[in-house]
Amino acid sequence: MGVNGYGTIGKRVADAVHAQPDMELIGVAKTQPNFEAHTAGERGYPMYAAIPERSPLFSEAGVELAGEVDELVAEADIIVDCTPSGIGAENRELYETHHTPAIFQGGEDADVADVSFNARANFDAARDADYVRVVSCNTTGLSRIIAPLEEEYGVEKVRATLVRRGGDPGQNSRGPINDILPNPIKIPSHHGPDVKTIFPDLEIDTLGLKVPATLMHVHALNVTLEDDVTGAHVRQLLEGENRVYVIPEGMGIDGAGKLMDFALDAGRPRGDMWENCVWGESIGVNGRDLYLFQAIHQQSDVIPENVDAIRAMFDLEDQKTSMELTDRTLGIGI
Ligand code: NAD
Repeated sequence: MGVNGYGTIGKRVADAVHAQPDMELIGVAKTQPNFEAHTAGERGYPMYAAIPERSPLFSEAGVELAGEVDELVAEADIIVDCTPSGIGAENRELYETHHTPAIFQGGEDADVADVSFNARANFDAARDADYVRVVSCNTTGLSRIIAPLEEEYGVEKVRATLVRRGGDPGQNSRGPINDILPNPIKIPSHHGPDVKTIFPDLEIDTLGLKVPATLMHVHALNVTLEDDVTGAHVRQLLEGENRVYVIPEGMGIDGAGKLMDFALDAGRPRGDMWENCVWGESIGVNGRDLYLFQAIHQQSDVIPENVDAIRAMFDLEDQKTSMELTDRTLGIGI
């Protein structure tokens, strides 16, 4: 397996695949020899130049190249494309030329691939597919909650307000720095249709805002279920999901900042929090209406999904075995 685009998502995918007993990472492709290229070298990942004309920059910076991206794509059984939104679609031709299957990320339009994927919700849809898109961090976070609710009670309608971080910690050109933006202003937002790439029959409306934070996204969810439920029952259901952490009362975790501290204290790589973090106290029910708050670590929640997508595409394991193996090897589940 090779990674094309070694940034926020790519470096995490590379580490996650490297940790799997049934996969081999054969290299990563980068456009420039920045700090991530140096740390990739320290991890022993062969480096390929994503843009051939830039190859000399790597040797000037003391980063040894194993070749050019074309060679990586030719040699790999699968490429996980983690390039910025829109570049993945441009790269598809490269993968097709070499008959190399590929996984794209959520910044691409759904039509970049045959299937949009979330391991919990539609693992089997990616079986034997050549091109798969792992949905965005927000869609992954919503799918992990909707799937068990749909199975247990049936879902009539989802309404979600997504309070989104302005940018990742390293994205110093993003914002807002001091504002609260309805974003996108148009209601409903594009997030609902993206969730429908996983649940085609779902009724869902979403609204988005952007705030001056880099830590996580926070979702306010209202789900109208088909049956009357109790909050205790929903809580028990979500506590049974390994990729959902129901934050217990008494932990003193009142926001995304403390969640990130918790992940660092727990010794997680890069302080990652792969699980949806649902505040237990927020789970409230009024008849068939369920309410909750959850936080989503945008930089890491999609990482286990990429690993499972590889197993689904190559028919290596069933859904349960794959998800358990991914979770065990990465240390997911609190
Ligand atoms: P990023 O900018 O951190 O990393 C992208 C990397 O690709 C950079 O290292 C960049 O130099 C490199 N690159 C640019 N052009 C390239 C090319 N032609 N060939 C190879 N590499 C190239 O971006 P990211 O945040 O990792 O996002 C990657 C994808 O993952 C996007 O589709 C994004 O929407 C999606 N995604 C991002 C997040 C997030 O919060 N960061 C969460 C979920 C999904």
